Amino acid sequence: MSIPAVPTAAEPATAPADAAPTDAAASAAPTASAPQACPCCAATIDADPRFAVWCPACEWNLTPEATDAPAPKTRRGAADARRRAAATARADQLFEDLAAGRTATGGQRAWLAAAAIATAVHLTTAALCAWGLWLLVTGNTPLRCLGALVLALVVLIRPRLGRAPRGEGVLTRAEAPALYGLADRVAAELGTRPAGVIQVDTDFNASVWVAGPRRQTVLTLGLPLWEVLGEQDRVALLGHEFGHRVNGDHRRGLWLGTAIHALAHWHDLARPRGHYRDAVGLRMLFQLTDLLLGVLLGGVARLLCRVLLLLDRLTSRAGQQAEYHADTLATRVGSTEASRGLLRTLLLHRTAETAATRVRAELHSRPRAARRGRTPDPAERTSAPEAFWERLRDHLASVPPLEHERLLRRSALERGAVDTTHPPTHLRLALLDRAPAVPAAVAMTPAEAAAIAAELAPHRVRVARTLLAG
Ligand SMILES: [Zn+2]
Ligand SMILES: [Zn+2]
Repeated sequence: MSIPAVPTAAEPATAPADAAPTDAAASAAPTASAPQACPCCAATIDADPRFAVWCPACEWNLTPEATDAPAPKTRRGAADARRRAAATARADQLFEDLAAGRTATGGQRAWLAAAAIATAVHLTTAALCAWGLWLLVTGNTPLRCLGALVLALVVLIRPRLGRAPRGEGVLTRAEAPALYGLADRVAAELGTRPAGVIQVDTDFNASVWVAGPRRQTVLTLGLPLWEVLGEQDRVALLGHEFGHRVNGDHRRGLWLGTAIHALAHWHDLARPRGHYRDAVGLRMLFQLTDLLLGVLLGGVARLLCRVLLLLDRLTSRAGQQAEYHADTLATRVGSTEASRGLLRTLLLHRTAETAATRVRAELHSRPRAARRGRTPDPAERTSAPEAFWERLRDHLASVPPLEHERLLRRSALERGAVDTTHPPTHLRLALLDRAPAVPAAVAMTPAEAAAIAAELAPHRVRVARTLLAG
């Protein structure tokens, strides 16, 4: 989870692409399973009707939302397929190497190549800045105008250190002493700096990144994930996040991290968007400008895209290895059992989304039931935010083993499509299972858990209202 010690945006702490969408109903009550025969191999399936019906024997309907239509045979489609196959092979090879206790090979060369690209990115910005200043100081009036334009461009494309968040969702140390206290204990156990800022948001995720010239550690906790985790699983989550500060992932480092984000920003700026097409008047001129800009910027955008892909290729193995290391650190801090609980919950990303949507629909229908004069059930007397969290927790806790198994197998099937920041979840679990079980170095006490819950109470209400508003 979480993401590079990156200056600008935090990378997701989880690999949501692992999570499979399900048609799970919001109801947490397990419905009686109805045995039925697999239409493919005739094996008996004990399906829970709240979830996708699938066959563990032959994997019929493992990904119910996938279409049978073959992907169109285009050059881009073929290139994507090759890229996915290569990513799958790399993920599998890394797992086998780590499982066998072999250290990564070739990592130093890849890191040097990535650092050279990052240096070229920063030198480009520095050279433009020097050129703009030189034009401004030594040029005539037109050249000074050009120099001013170049410096404006430099401001636009400069590497960014990011800014620590403020305002909504941010908890100060005075407001959340218990949460900061727990985070501090985890950070101290791992030998890294404590969080400068903790904020909560609406994602089923968590992340850590470093902001500003003071390099403050910003910890972001998605309340939907935090609320459905067990108490000790939350310690493992903090362990994984703070593990990102000490797991040696160069992608999160200042030099490479700022270069990757600058490149992504440049690519975003260069992508042709056709802004001028809707302009009224001078349509021909705008269209001509649009065409020329499209050709020029399109070429730049394609080049930047290739450089970004190359950087990803050079750093993905080391980055995924660092993620496995962060899992090891999470295990040391929170225990093997808590790490396993965390990873299994991360597989439920889409299940949580579906459940939240249905809880929202159900809670929105409550006023109508009240207007009809029906006596509200005891459950209907709870406030909507309170009911939202309660039902989300109950639903995820009621996911049956067969659905967990489907999500695991699906993670294996899609491992080539997973975002490259995190290894596929089933491999993370498999590596965890191969290591000896360890107890927690940091234990959350019941009193601490209650204090943290009280500190987060206003945010639970706010986040639930946001999610209920859809
Ligand atoms: Zn991570
Ligand atoms: Zn079957």
